[in-house]
Amino acid sequence: MAKTVIIGGSIMGSSIAYHMAMAGHAGDIVVIEPDPSYEWAAAPRSSGGVRLMHGLPENIEMSRYGQEVYKDFARLMDVDGEPGRFDFKEYGYLSMVAGAENVAIVEGNCRVQNAQGVPNVVLDAAALAKRFPSFNVQGIDAALHAPGDGFIDPHAAVIGFRRKAISLGVEYIQGKVVGFDANDTKVERVVLESGRRLDADRVVNVAGAWGPALCNMVGMKVPVEPLQRETFYFETRAELEDMPLTKDVDGVSFRQEGAGYTAGFTRKDKPSGFNWDIEPDLFDKIIWPSLANRVPKFESLKLMRSWCGHYALNHMDGNTIIGPWVGGLENFYVATGFSGAGLQKGPAIGRAMTELLLHGEYQTLDLSRMSYQRVIDNEPLVETGFTA
Ligand SMILES: Cc1cc2nc3c(=O)[nH]c(=O)nc-3n(C[C@H](O)[C@H](O)[C@H](O)COP(=O)(O)OP(=O)(O)OC[C@H]3O[C@@H](n4cnc5c(N)ncnc54)[C@H](O)[C@@H]3O)c2cc1C
Repeated sequence: MAKTVIIGGSIMGSSIAYHMAMAGHAGDIVVIEPDPSYEWAAAPRSSGGVRLMHGLPENIEMSRYGQEVYKDFARLMDVDGEPGRFDFKEYGYLSMVAGAENVAIVEGNCRVQNAQGVPNVVLDAAALAKRFPSFNVQGIDAALHAPGDGFIDPHAAVIGFRRKAISLGVEYIQGKVVGFDANDTKVERVVLESGRRLDADRVVNVAGAWGPALCNMVGMKVPVEPLQRETFYFETRAELEDMPLTKDVDGVSFRQEGAGYTAGFTRKDKPSGFNWDIEPDLFDKIIWPSLANRVPKFESLKLMRSWCGHYALNHMDGNTIIGPWVGGLENFYVATGFSGAGLQKGPAIGRAMTELLLHGEYQTLDLSRMSYQRVIDNEPLVETGFTA
């Protein structure tokens, strides 16, 4: 029987599967995912941050639904009748800025967030030093503080959605999509690496940073490319107060993780494409000096390990592209371009895609401005809020 074929079973694919199943349509979809361990997927390699620190109301509302779902995740994803543990670590987010122009941007974003009912505040350097005594606040003019934001275990989030979707009857096929059979208007079949061909009523491409290559196979051009981002885990014996996920003025960010901290740095000037090598000296030459400058107790840290993952970076405007391929094959859908904010949007994208597939329109949160139409029109929808 022809079905909706979901390509990629990580946070987006499994959230769509969960929402379709909860709407009573588990039998109408199939999820294709090559790797049930999700070793290379971006989601488990992410920082796990869930924040309402955006400048666009759609992004605030998507992350708000993300927070609601993740705060209640153990109960919602319960399969055996005994919810396991899933923590939403509400340590907050902090975005530091310098210079009048950047102060004006965070103040503007804070006003949008407050108007959406989000109780974020802009702190000046003195208030920041008082709130977090471990910071050296030199060179900082203001910081947007989001006390209700936090982070989760991203691998557990993927597995939670997947496990629940399967328990509700969704079929996952272990395989890799390598092509499509299409006529002039529609995709008819999805071709797997094994040679198997699956009839498809509709196709939803949520293959993360691998998604643009799949779009290319049917001739759809998306302004999205893989961008490598490294993460470093370190520990220190020094005692510090609980810290929010903090982004410094130079782009270096860090947050608490278990007995230590993770730190990262997004270099948008890096060549795009998949690259699994950690840049030599990046930690020693850029990240550590920055950390030690901002938190002098980090002078004595010990680097324990590092890894990298890939953003699906939308280089047009850094924002989500969701919906059918406007002007192209009518049953080919995408959700891509999440850059550094897809984990928190996963629940909302699952809900939104389910609404599109079942009703042909959004029913809760209107994401029309994020359709492919703006790519055709070359009209960027720029997000001025926190970008990781
Ligand atoms: C270092 C780092 C830090 C981040 N920090 C955050 C953060 O703090 N907060 C936040 O919200 N977001 C963060 N992100 C972004 C977030 O991880 C992504 O936006 C999100 O994981 C995207 O989910 P996805 O399901 O689209 O893609 P992925 O998680 O990458 O999953 C794509 C899936 O598609 C599968 N696939 C690939 N090719 C095929 C094929 N041909 N056929 C079938 N399946 C295929 C893959 O196996 C994979 O499982 C971060 C990302 C990185 C790299």
